[in-house]
Amino acid sequence: MGGAHFAFTDRWGGVSAVPYEELNLGGAVGDDPAAVLANRALAARSLGLDPDRVVWMNQVHGRDVAVVDGPWGADTAIPAVDAVVTARRGLALAVLTADCTPVLLADPVAGVAAAAHAGRPGLVAGVVPAAVQAMVSLGAEPGRIVARTGPAVCGHCYEVPAEMRESVAAAVPAARAETSWGTPAVDVAEGVRAQLAEAGVVNWSRSPVCTLESRDHFSYRRDRVTGRLAGYVWLTEHSRGEDPRAPGEGKNDGS
Ligand SMILES: [Zn+2]
Repeated sequence: MGGAHFAFTDRWGGVSAVPYEELNLGGAVGDDPAAVLANRALAARSLGLDPDRVVWMNQVHGRDVAVVDGPWGADTAIPAVDAVVTARRGLALAVLTADCTPVLLADPVAGVAAAAHAGRPGLVAGVVPAAVQAMVSLGAEPGRIVARTGPAVCGHCYEVPAEMRESVAAAVPAARAETSWGTPAVDVAEGVRAQLAEAGVVNWSRSPVCTLESRDHFSYRRDRVTGRLAGYVWLTEHSRGEDPRAPGEGKNDGS
């Protein structure tokens, strides 16, 4: 993949107590802040990441995007955005969800990555196309962008009132769906796929996991008071394709 990395957590392997058991990564859901910090460190280390080099968002179901080149400072209020974009290799971007669709994007050639939070409002507002646009402004090309969506409530489970389905479908027709029991529904990930295709991003794959159906994942619709999963995207600091000494994986670098 030329140095692009994508990862999605499940709910196991952390220290949080009921009802956030175990690996709750969300800091605004009522869990013990010390447990959340410990979980964020555990998750980062399990991915080979420095926990202090992970950028989190204050997600508000909007379409604003922040361009970042490092973690937020200790005295900085984390901005209210639903997408972060970086051209800094080695910096990990994280998105929190429990049913909403986490969207990870990377152009490994340009070295530009993005993480976006797309629930129903973010889908309609266009947060994912806004993230792609921000990536392009940093040198990414849509045809090179690799896109992954993570565990989220599926179109067969995400029941909504009929008027709500129609208002979503008016903005994003591909998101129109029906539950497995025959009532109006929204398929956010499918809507994201259509928005990405419209933006020229066709290298896309979708997690098969439905959070509402999986007991291994947090689901807000199922449990209300619960934890948050995280999706992480980052680019390795030196992709092999750019290293004149490659191949050899650094074994003969003489240092
Ligand atoms: Zn489902």
